[in-house]
Amino acid sequence: MAVLKLFFILLIGCLLLAINPVIAQPAVDIGLTQAERDYLSAKKVLSVCVDPDRLPFDGVAEDGQHAGLSKDYFDIFANMLGVKMVVPKVQDWNDLISKAKRRECDVVSQINASDKRRTFLDFTTPYFYLPLAVVTRYDRIFVEESLEGAGTQFAVIKGDIAIDKLKQRYPSVVLVEVKNNIEAMELVYQGEVFGYIGAQGAVAFAIQSLNLNKLAVTGSLPLRYELSVATRNDEPLLASAFEKAVLHIDPKEGQSIRDKWIAITIEKVTDYTLLWLTLLVLGTVLIVSLYWNRHLAQANRKIRDTLNELHDAQIQLEDQNRMFKRQSITDALTGIYNRLKLDEDLSYAIKRSKRTQREFSIILLDIDNFKRVNDRFGHLVGDELLKEFAALLTGAIRQSDIVGRWGGEEFLVICPDTDRQGGETLAEQLRQRIAAHEFPEKRELNASLGVAVHQPDESADTLIARVDKALYRAKEQGRNRVEVG
Ligand code: GH3
Ligand code: MG
Ligand code: MG
Repeated sequence: MAVLKLFFILLIGCLLLAINPVIAQPAVDIGLTQAERDYLSAKKVLSVCVDPDRLPFDGVAEDGQHAGLSKDYFDIFANMLGVKMVVPKVQDWNDLISKAKRRECDVVSQINASDKRRTFLDFTTPYFYLPLAVVTRYDRIFVEESLEGAGTQFAVIKGDIAIDKLKQRYPSVVLVEVKNNIEAMELVYQGEVFGYIGAQGAVAFAIQSLNLNKLAVTGSLPLRYELSVATRNDEPLLASAFEKAVLHIDPKEGQSIRDKWIAITIEKVTDYTLLWLTLLVLGTVLIVSLYWNRHLAQANRKIRDTLNELHDAQIQLEDQNRMFKRQSITDALTGIYNRLKLDEDLSYAIKRSKRTQREFSIILLDIDNFKRVNDRFGHLVGDELLKEFAALLTGAIRQSDIVGRWGGEEFLVICPDTDRQGGETLAEQLRQRIAAHEFPEKRELNASLGVAVHQPDESADTLIARVDKALYRAKEQGRNRVEVG
């Protein structure tokens, strides 16, 4: 039984909702009278006229819906009054006033009260206040005195309540009435008027959204817009209902709406600036880095080429140096060490022997009767024989011995760590090998050899003189023999 009852209640509820879907019950009790409630129920939909030109405080979004700070208030009002609201299309402020006069607006969302307007509108207590601000070119300075008798011109929007307020406070002010804030800013920008007077925040917002970076809010006035909800004055129940709604706005909620819209204004500006700044910085970085990359790549290529050239040159130089060095110590004909190198090695052997306290020997060889060979077979054959003789010597000595051409047909062998006995034995071996050797075209050669053992502290010259003497003796005593000095 109870289930059946519940079912009927639900059914009736659904039917009621289906019959009257538009009217939502007021969610908040703001003390509306029965008459006001009945009036609103009968009305169902309110047409709310909104100035399309006053964001962030009042405006119309691209889809034609109410926008801006007043929209947030009107969402609360709609909830309080339990009505649906639509926004008729309005061209500008003047169009809005004309529509209000023609009773095409039940409500005007945000408007200053004035006696003139009271002929067709009722006004609630103001729910929002805005100081009057002055926009000039950013390089001008506004002072309040320029409003009084200075003949300076200021743009104001036609029909704006600011006109009355300004004229009342500054009777000699010169005002140029324009259609909208774009036209006003244009005049300021062109220098046709000194400044444009409008609602603080709204003008700043317009400057930012129109990106008029040469204009700025450079002053404010001790006057303010006191913005109320206005209702058509032929429907007093609407006025009293809205008055209750305005008075029931929670001050905290009002504050958070204002904070939200002012924050959005600032945020929008910051985002915009940041975006351009970021793009600019990124663009610059990109261009600079591209330029530098190219530049660096070119420079790198050049450096690499230069380094390669330098490296090649260095290798060439080292090769040349090695060649010069070799040439400087090599006998051109025989390819063995020359006199220069033998002098060096001899003084080195003397130093080494002093250090190691071990004696060394030298052997001086002179080919016997070589002049005759030259005379008989010619100089070229003589040269070939000298080459063969050098090769024979090189092959006959130990690794540690040094052989070189002392000059002409004379050769010197330095034998480190070799005493008199060792020197003599080697000399004799050499003599025999030379004598036994078959030179090109079956020619034979003999040599005489002098041997000398280096004495402690003996100079190279003395040693050479002694070995020379020994060789001389070998020649004297019949050639093809060894003599020790
Ligand atoms: P000795 O037995 O007394 O040493 O008689 P020798 O003829 O060998 O001595 P001498 O000093 O009278 O002559 C040396 C000869 O060696 C003279 C020179 O023509 C020859 N000679 C020296 N250097 C070269 C050379 O580079 N090439 C050729 N083909 N002959 C050379
Ligand atoms: Mg000689
Ligand atoms: Mg000779």
